[in-house]
This record gives sequence, C-alpha cells and structure tokens, in this order.
Amino acid sequence: LHYLMWFRRDLRVHDNTALAALCERANTDNAQVSAVFFLTPEQWQAHNMSLAQVDHITRTLPLLAQNLQTQLHIKLLVQVSPSFSDCIETLSDFCTTNNITCIMANHEYEGNEIARDEQLTKQLAKNDIEFIRFHDQCILPPHSITTNDDSMYQVFTPFYKKWRHTLEVSTIQIHKAATIKKHSNVDLTLSQDSANTIKEIEILGKKTTNNYQKMLQDSESLQHIDIEAQMTQAREAYPAGETDACQRLEDFIAEDIDNYDVSRDVPSLQATSQLSAYLTIGSISPRLCYLQAYKAQEKLHGNDSDNDDINRWISELAWRDFYRHVLVEKPELIRHQAYKNETDKNISWSYNTDDFAAWCRGKTGVPLVDSAMRNLNATGFMHNRLRMVTAMFLTKDLLIDWRLGERYFMQQLIDGDFASNNGGWQWSASTGTDSAPYFRIMNPFSQASTHDANGEFIKTWLPELKDIPTSILHSEEKLRKALSKGGKFVNIDYPLPMVEHKTARQLAIAEFKK
Ligand code: FAD
Repeated sequence: LHYLMWFRRDLRVHDNTALAALCERANTDNAQVSAVFFLTPEQWQAHNMSLAQVDHITRTLPLLAQNLQTQLHIKLLVQVSPSFSDCIETLSDFCTTNNITCIMANHEYEGNEIARDEQLTKQLAKNDIEFIRFHDQCILPPHSITTNDDSMYQVFTPFYKKWRHTLEVSTIQIHKAATIKKHSNVDLTLSQDSANTIKEIEILGKKTTNNYQKMLQDSESLQHIDIEAQMTQAREAYPAGETDACQRLEDFIAEDIDNYDVSRDVPSLQATSQLSAYLTIGSISPRLCYLQAYKAQEKLHGNDSDNDDINRWISELAWRDFYRHVLVEKPELIRHQAYKNETDKNISWSYNTDDFAAWCRGKTGVPLVDSAMRNLNATGFMHNRLRMVTAMFLTKDLLIDWRLGERYFMQQLIDGDFASNNGGWQWSASTGTDSAPYFRIMNPFSQASTHDANGEFIKTWLPELKDIPTSILHSEEKLRKALSKGGKFVNIDYPLPMVEHKTARQLAIAEFKK
C-alpha cells in the first residue's frame, strides 16, 4: 500500500492535522507514505501572490523536505504544475502510476482551491482513490462557532466571546505525526520540472522564484517597485522554516507579549509577533500559537485570565479564524463581492488612476500614509495599524474602490492571505463585517500623532521630512503651510496633501449616507 500527503498551505511537520492522520493510518495499514507539493506559478499570478511570498514558500520547501525525511522517513516530491488544472491531471496520473490509494490534505477555503479539490475528488473516485481532507487552518474550524440559531456571527465581538468560551471548555489537540514504519522504495520522479532530493528542491525553488519574477516584470501595478529588493528585505526579515517560526513564537511570548496591548499600535516598535508570514503559508500552526499564549497566561497570571496583553494577542488570532469562518459562510467574497451587498449597488467608487498611483507610490502628501506605503513597497510587510490607516485613506479620503487596494496589498505582502486581507479591506471600507460605522473615519494626521508620536516611523521611511518638526507633520494645516510658497519647508521635495481630510470625510459620509 502507498499513501500520499499533499502539502498546500501547511508547510510544517508539527501539528499538521492531515499529516498526523495519514501517518497513523499508514502505520496501521503497513503502508508506505510519500509527500508532494505543487509549485503553481500561473495560479499564483492569477491570485496576485507577491514575489516575497513565493520566495518564502520556495525557501521553506527544502527545510520541510529535510524535516519530513529525518523525523518521519517521508520523501517530498516537489513538482511544477503551472495551474490547478495541471495539478489535477498530474496527481491522478501519479497515483495510478505509483498505485497510490489514498491522498490526504488540509482544507483550503478559497474558490479555485475548492473547485480544484472537488474536481480531483471526482477524478480520483473513478479509480477508487480516496481523497480525504481535514480542517487545519483555524484554531476552531469553520461552522463550529455559530449563533444559537446555528448561523454565522455577523460581527466579531460575539463571535470572539463564543470562540473563547468554546476553547475554555474544550481541549484543543496538537497532532503529532508518527514516524512511518514502512520505508518508501518508490522513485518519486514526475517530470523534468520536479525535484525530490533536498538539493534539487532548493534548485527548483530558486528557478521557480526567478521565473515568477520574470512573469511579474511587465505587471503594470509593479512598475514603481524594485521587487527584487523587496524580496531580499523580506528574506532577511523572515528566515524560512518551522524551526524559525516556532523560535519566533517562543521569543515573542518570552519578551514582548507582556506589553502587547500598549505597544502593538506603535509601528516603530516592531512589538507584534510578525508571525503572519509563517501562519499564511502554514509554517506554524495557529493552535500552537494559541496554546503557547494560553500557557504563558497561566504561568504569568495564574487564575487571572483578564491579562489584557495576552488576551489581546489571543483575540488577534481569533480575528484570523473569524475571517476564515466568514469566507466559508459567504463564498461569494472570493468573487469580489462586498459583504454588505447594498454597498456594491449604491456607492459610486472612484477609479481615478492618478489618485490610485499616488497612494501606491506613497505620494499622497499625507506623511503617515506615504511612509506606510513606502515601507510596504520596500519590505513586503505593513504594520496592522498602518494597514487600517492606508486602507481607510484610499477608500474614504479618495473614495477609491476597496478592491483595488485589496489587490495591491496581495501583490506586495509576504503574508498576503485572501481571508484576512479581504476582511481587513472590507472592514476599513465599511462594506464588510463588524460594526465600524461608515462615519468613523480615521484622520491620518491624528493617527500619526497618537501612534507615531515622535515621528520616528515617518522619518525613517520619508527621510526628506527629517528636518520638519513632528508638530508640523502631525497637523494637516501646518504641513500645508510649511510646504507652500512662503513656507519654511517649501524647498523640500514632498507633495502637498492631495485632499483636505475634513472635506474628503464629509464627501465620503455623504456618499455612504446615500
Ligand atoms: P500580531 O499582532 O502578532 O497578531 C498575531 C496573528 O494574529 C497575526 O500573525 C495574524 O495571523 C493574526 N491577526 C492579527 N490581526 C489580524 C487581523 N486584523 N485580521 C486577521 N488576522 C489577524 N493579515 C494577514 O495575515 N494577511 C493579510 O493579507 C492581511 N491583510 C490585511 C489588510 C488590511 C487592510 C488590514 C487592516 C489587515 C490585514 N491583515 C492581514 C491583518 C493584520 O494586519 C496582520 O495579520 C498583522 O499585521 C500581522 O502582523 P503580526 O504577525 O505581527 O500580528
């Protein structure tokens, strides 16, 4: 007997639900096990995946192959299959050639992924091959947190209360995969574009990243970005693999979590966990994150479960679950529809290309927005507070369709993730879940004064503003005056704020009221 583990967004050995189940069954049935991962560049491009994320995946694969081999005696085959339909063909041929009778994988919740899995299930069934999937991406699986009448929560807070309560009264399991007893003797070659030794996987990964970079080179929305430099920055900030991810979690819990509630909103401090890039590709399990935080809470605060810092961090993990649950409940989100349907019909979004380009390039004349956008363009990451500020600026001050911003973020972010990104954008645009009412519009100048009080973040990313006192940078009126004719900083090469926030806010409110 021969079984197959299909890795997707779960690039780890520890606490991988499908992997643990497959190993258990293989040992019971005395079956051998192989594993496969598909590199799907055309599909990635169609999903606007950033080069930084592709690079993160390809850097992770050799480490995954090594862990699988040394810990479980499983060989990983990495195969280039440009699109999902190619994967279906390749997988079914591979199963028939190698007498594989069972594939296991973890669920993915996006539209094309679901369609691919459904098609594959049908195809495999013709040859009596099982395809079994498990919920693994969330701490608590979709459909498990519902209202008393069994429907999905529309807003986060009651969802969170039920989610926390459920976790407190139940034990969540960490799945440990058992070493495979029957070693594989199968030669796992698929085609020229495949690799099955660690060295080959590394080479194929690099080649795929380079090819992907070439595929993106004509992409109009990336013309102002040095994506190679962005990838290099992201590479330095995010060493690949589950060992590094687990170490980062441990360090964050030991050193930073105790100040999280206060520091998490200060972008210059880097006081958040920076685990999202790993969670997105599955190098670390969200359940492990929750359990470690929960243990820290017990250790540090005993029965005082009201510790704001740890609770706050756990609530961020719950946001991640929430947006996945929402996506499963409302699959039309994947087809670019607003969560609140009426906003699609009634809001006249702007598609002004100059305005959008100014936002993308960090040239709006609003220092917090521009520093955040240039930081994103340079590093492939943006702090959560700044994601909210820049998203609100685009959708409220410029009234530009949130879908343009959503796509732009996906193209840049190393942690780009459909559910969280779509959720964050729709929250900011007031078209989504949650109770952020449309008239609560962030003022990017007062946000700067609260969250970048000494201007450190702004001045790091906009060095041309280094001589302007922070009190001026934090006031639209003073900044306008200082940069205008006769102003003290008229010679600085930095644009005037492109809109007056007060007026833009009124226009947005009027549009939403409609
Ligand atoms: P921490 O503060 O340490 O939080 C721990 C983990 O909780 C994060 O790694 C992440 O997995 C999860 N989390 C935290 N905040 C949120 C949130 N608001 N929504 C969902 N999950 C959350 N997150 C992504 O992972 N991918 C995205 O593509 C993405 N796009 C976003 C777009 C917008 C407009 C907004 C407002 C938010 C977006 N977020 C996204 C959520 C959030 O900004 C990032 O998860 C966070 O900044 C990652 O940093 P961290 O790992 O240090 O987070």
